[in-house]
Amino acid sequence: MSEDKFIHDSKTLLKFIQYYCEHKHENESKVHDTLKLSYENNSLDVTLEYSLCKECEKTLSYSYTKLQVCPHEVKPSCRKCDDPCYDKKEWKLLAKIMKYSGMRFGLLKIKKLFKLTGKNND
Ligand SMILES: [Zn+2]
Repeated sequence: MSEDKFIHDSKTLLKFIQYYCEHKHENESKVHDTLKLSYENNSLDVTLEYSLCKECEKTLSYSYTKLQVCPHEVKPSCRKCDDPCYDKKEWKLLAKIMKYSGMRFGLLKIKKLFKLTGKNND
């Protein structure tokens, strides 16, 4: 995928996890940190700031890593992907986060992106 697309998807990912964590884990202690984006060994001039609980930080780093190695030149909706790269557990969690935040943001498009395919890889 293009760098622009990668940056856009990274930002969207963080925004959704951030929102979810703020509302679902408001009593957890938060880690404040930054994520410097890089793609295909190029360091990009974009740094994202976040404040997430430990669990959500893990989710972010998992998803971000998957995004970085997405093999598709033109990234399809994840649910249409022939070869989903998420493990089932993470896939479900992400779907939950996307659904929760997506409804709040009114971005139903994004929700579809992570909809469960029903396809089993385990
Ligand atoms: Zn959280």
